[in-house]
Amino acid sequence: MDVAEHRRPWDGRWLYQIADDHTIDLRVNTVPTLHGEDMTMRVLDRKTRLLKVESLGLLKREFFNLQKLVGSPAGLVLVTLHAPVAAGAIQSMLGMGVAPHFLASCLNGVIAQRLVQTLCRECRVAYPLDEVAVSFDDVRPFLETGEGESIYGAKGCPACKMLGYDGRSGLFEVLTVTPAIRQMILKSMPLQQIRRQAVADGMMEFRQTALLKVAQGVTSVEQVFQAVPSEYLFAEDAAT
Ligand SMILES: [Zn+2]
Repeated sequence: MDVAEHRRPWDGRWLYQIADDHTIDLRVNTVPTLHGEDMTMRVLDRKTRLLKVESLGLLKREFFNLQKLVGSPAGLVLVTLHAPVAAGAIQSMLGMGVAPHFLASCLNGVIAQRLVQTLCRECRVAYPLDEVAVSFDDVRPFLETGEGESIYGAKGCPACKMLGYDGRSGLFEVLTVTPAIRQMILKSMPLQQIRRQAVADGMMEFRQTALLKVAQGVTSVEQVFQAVPSEYLFAEDAAT
């Protein structure tokens, strides 16, 4: 499966033999839409190990949340419609006429994905943090040694055909449907309230996952602004 290919639908399917009589079936499908990609992921077992999903570009903490989702009982369905943010997918489904009680009882989580181009490591240019208007304070606890000391911009060299970028990586929001969120879905509460609850329950927002990828030198601030609507890039009060 080529996660960099975003113009064609692709299907990924893995069968894991975890015991002689026990196989797990993991499927990921994407469909290009007018606005980008939709991705659906199905895990047809409770004891799945999602090793391959790491290659989608999930950050450690998102991967951890995803594993927790998958560890929850019975047939799990994770859906990302191409909503601007994960909570938006819940609203989209309610808007399409999906019954709130059905959604509240079936949905365990939502993953929203945005793609950014990755900086060419051969030629990316480092700018010291004190020269730019970017602060990593908000994601400092998630940074590893050596990360978040500068930000990087694109330049261009023969290795990247002078583009400055040489691949793609995903930004994700992994929303776990907690008991509180289940209640909110039942009551068809507005997106912003569900989103706020998800953050309170530990969801990393696009704003933070994007900032982390910038701090890690994976992508540039310009790419983040292209990938994530600006109303979701600033602190919560600005978005409401
Ligand atoms: Zn280059």
